[in-house]
Amino acid sequence: PVIFIGMGTCGLASGADKVKSAIEEELVNQNINALIVPTGCVGYCAREPIVDIKLPGEDRISYCEIQPKDVKDLIKTTIIDKKVYKKKLLGSYGETKDGIPNIDEIPFFKRQHKVVLKNCGVINPNSIDEYIAAGGFKALDKALRILTPEKVIEEIKASGLRGRGGGGFPTGIKWELAHKKKSDTKYIICNADEGDPGAFMDRSVLESDPYRLIEGMIIGAYAIGASYGYIYCRAEYPLAIERLEDAILKCREYGLLGKNILDSDFDFDLKIKKGAGAFVCGEETALIASIEGKRGMPRPRPPYPADSGLWGKPTVINNVETFANVPSVINMGSAWFASTGTKTSKGTKVFALSGKVVNSGLVEVPMGITLREVVFDIGGGIPDDKKFKAVQIGGPSGGCLPDSVLDTEVDYESLKEVGAMMGSGGFVVMDEDTCMVDVAKFFLTFIQNESCGKCVPCREGTKRMLEIIERIPVRYGSNGDKTEQLQRFKGIIHLQRLAKVIQDTSLCGLGQSAPNPVLSGLRYFRDEYEEHLFERK
Ligand code: SF4
Repeated sequence: PVIFIGMGTCGLASGADKVKSAIEEELVNQNINALIVPTGCVGYCAREPIVDIKLPGEDRISYCEIQPKDVKDLIKTTIIDKKVYKKKLLGSYGETKDGIPNIDEIPFFKRQHKVVLKNCGVINPNSIDEYIAAGGFKALDKALRILTPEKVIEEIKASGLRGRGGGGFPTGIKWELAHKKKSDTKYIICNADEGDPGAFMDRSVLESDPYRLIEGMIIGAYAIGASYGYIYCRAEYPLAIERLEDAILKCREYGLLGKNILDSDFDFDLKIKKGAGAFVCGEETALIASIEGKRGMPRPRPPYPADSGLWGKPTVINNVETFANVPSVINMGSAWFASTGTKTSKGTKVFALSGKVVNSGLVEVPMGITLREVVFDIGGGIPDDKKFKAVQIGGPSGGCLPDSVLDTEVDYESLKEVGAMMGSGGFVVMDEDTCMVDVAKFFLTFIQNESCGKCVPCREGTKRMLEIIERIPVRYGSNGDKTEQLQRFKGIIHLQRLAKVIQDTSLCGLGQSAPNPVLSGLRYFRDEYEEHLFERK
């Protein structure tokens, strides 16, 4: 038998290591010879720890919320008696039969379309052989042996893949710009400095399927002609860094990094650069400055990194999810990739579904799915019979959307139209008890702390916005006189004006998008702001 245990950060936080020890002990007690395989996260974080058991010749069966006290029964039922442990059954990786649903039929997984997360929770992230057995490095082989760099770029362009880090810039065009630039040295960088509150997409991919990212980066490097790459990963992700380091070493052993990759004349290597936790280092020019050993501060663009990036050389920066899509585009073809999604947003998007929702976890959905489907069909709705109030998409750069726009499609343009943005993938659901002024205060405090201070509108403006918001009394709390209340009401007008100035004049995306959570709050929850002021019940 093979026993798979979800050992991503979410699994470990729910006690997967204790479950693993209990399983090892029980196997010894029962004199059972089984192979234990640690995997990453399958995405269903709300139901961790997840343990899958595969008997020889049988389907792999998944069990959830396993605690050490369940282990004795689980092993006896599944391995000794060869039956299904119904109490904690999740589903089967085989056909639906005998009342055991296929994993893909479970509501949480049913509407998902896994491309980037295909291997997550399924293979052992420390095993390059398992990645290869799952079809890994086939795309790299195809790129190096059959496709020219120009052809790779053409495929990526035709696929419609856009940057998944938030901006949505077409990946193929970025690669083409760097490819056309003549230079003796070029660089490729993966932005893994995931910093949005509520976002854990990149961490999960790095922990669960690090080879997919590396393969995407090598293909990107081949396309633009880069000889060296960096993965800029926040130091707060120790497990992701550990697995990446292990994956890089194994890739070198297998001739997938270094000189003459797969016996071609292409040389490429990469290393990890740990970020020290500054949110602004997610901005590409600040990230470059940080790798160069300078203080992580954005600089004006142009020149764009594709022209003059790391140490003044042409550089491509994409985020984890963007690179992780590349092997599938090359393997399956651009037409296959572009067959999913909307007119302007192709493929899938990974979201970290969290907050007041029954099924929290990591989900990958086809572009074009509605927000309502994500919250209610996949997320299972709001717990404790509470009412839905809002969903916050896009982190500190995004916005809070109410029920009235919940039928909006997940698509770069549609989300912008309703006052949010795709962002990197934070998706925080809020129930009727959430105070929208508090939410705005939270994001503004975050941004104000993380502003690098280089330009006045962002440095001073976000501080002033926060001061105004803080003057708005706690709901139904303060008893200011009429004049004071009027002053506060004027504060809302000031807030809107200030927001516009910050948006229009800040140097980088952090400042330009900083007012978004407040503006979307005022757009959809203005009543609530006024309630705070006038103590209406
Ligand atoms: Fe720094 Fe904010 Fe200006 Fe960006 S907008 S450069 S984070 S001060």
